Amino acid sequence: MTNNKAKIVATLGPASDDYDVMVEMVKAGVNVFRINFSHSDHDSAREIAKKVQRLNQELETNVAILADLQGPKLRIGKVEEGAILKKGDVLTFTNKDELGTAKQVFMTYQQFASDVKIGDRILIDDGKILLEAIHSNGIDKVEAKVIQGGPLKSKKGVNLPNTRISLPCLTDKDLADLEVAMELAVEWVALSFVRNPNDVYQLRDILQKNDALCHIISKIEKPEAVVEIDEIIEASDAIMVARGDLGVEVPMQGVPLIQKMIVNKCHLQSKPVVIATQMMETMIEQLTPTRAEVNDVANSVLDGADAVMLSGETSVGKHPVAVIEAMSKIIAHVEESGQVRVNKENPPRYRNRRFITDSVCYNASKVADQIGASAILTMSFSGYTAFKIAAHRPKSIILMFTSNRNILNTMSLLWGVRGFFYDKMVSTDETFKDIKKIVVDKGLVSGGDLIVKIASMPIDDQGMTNMMKITAIEDN
Ligand code: PEP
Repeated sequence: MTNNKAKIVATLGPASDDYDVMVEMVKAGVNVFRINFSHSDHDSAREIAKKVQRLNQELETNVAILADLQGPKLRIGKVEEGAILKKGDVLTFTNKDELGTAKQVFMTYQQFASDVKIGDRILIDDGKILLEAIHSNGIDKVEAKVIQGGPLKSKKGVNLPNTRISLPCLTDKDLADLEVAMELAVEWVALSFVRNPNDVYQLRDILQKNDALCHIISKIEKPEAVVEIDEIIEASDAIMVARGDLGVEVPMQGVPLIQKMIVNKCHLQSKPVVIATQMMETMIEQLTPTRAEVNDVANSVLDGADAVMLSGETSVGKHPVAVIEAMSKIIAHVEESGQVRVNKENPPRYRNRRFITDSVCYNASKVADQIGASAILTMSFSGYTAFKIAAHRPKSIILMFTSNRNILNTMSLLWGVRGFFYDKMVSTDETFKDIKKIVVDKGLVSGGDLIVKIASMPIDDQGMTNMMKITAIEDN
């Protein structure tokens, strides 16, 4: 509903899961709705899927759904009111599920005592409380000294940046949530606390065994994941810089450079990248963001993010539509400046299976920029060429035509890409004539514009993209 190239992902929750609000959010610029399984139950996920389907029909949009799995998030149990930890106190973590105090607290992670080492840091409540492990009985009790104290509140998250956790990346809860995500045929599934590429392959294996077409977003929020980032990007379909937990697991000052490094690496591997968390946090309450928040969104777009994401701002915030309007305005302004920075000089280097397609995509983007084309039109069944062209960040829009309805919504996360259904495969000439007419009729291009079209020839083979054509749109 906007002409922006960077996309917006909005988390649904009590503030926004009403159909009319969702419609307004889409009109204001939402491209992907996120269901956060840390908070959403299966029935509400099913309701949301129905609403998105209805909305896509009524508004003729391709809004996608992203199902975010909670992953091995560790938590303390319930704690009595008013418990305060002071510097130098000793807190015991136990496997016994009983009401916690300032002396002892239940830890949901049952292998904690066997995994933790003396000297490991333990962070509670997004790092507000910091402790250091001083003793473990190796079975069910860990003692930790308080380095930075504060109020100890029920069910708060625990981060263990230095501990090698032996929990699987997909917990029993995630597997049950994943069943629902597959039943609803969501386009994107996000995997939390990814540590290595095997975590991603495990999820892919489950998806393949179930013939599910969901694409995988790996959330980068652990230091181990940063170390293995190249392999994780390769294993994934997209990446999310999950700055909330990442900023607790690594020193917060490290996050901005990690974000930039991940964005650059994703471009090089043609994988979309989403920047998440606290982008417009103030707008949970206020009608205007802080200048620093405006800068954060603008800089993420300038650095070349495919999408920016909202969490609490839209799930529980007071202004779920206004925050999208504000974000859309920031994106539009940055993009109009023409200053989005990406490494465009990234030609395909290896003569692999996709070399010809990759080369056509790279050169189509270059030619489009050089001749000032208004649009690049691509025919694609898997969406592969859209991923490739988007990663080269051409100045023009990217219009993808496909006979594969399953990937139309998936494309909504990709920078600059819009998908259209097209299933006639008569001849290359016929198809090019048809799709040109569609984009003219939709007002996406007009008389005098140049467009670049890529496809596979012969078209009915649906083989790999191997040709490019430049066309001038006639004046009416
Ligand atoms: C984050 O930690 O930044 C994040 C996006 O994850 P979640 O909202 O699931 O905690």
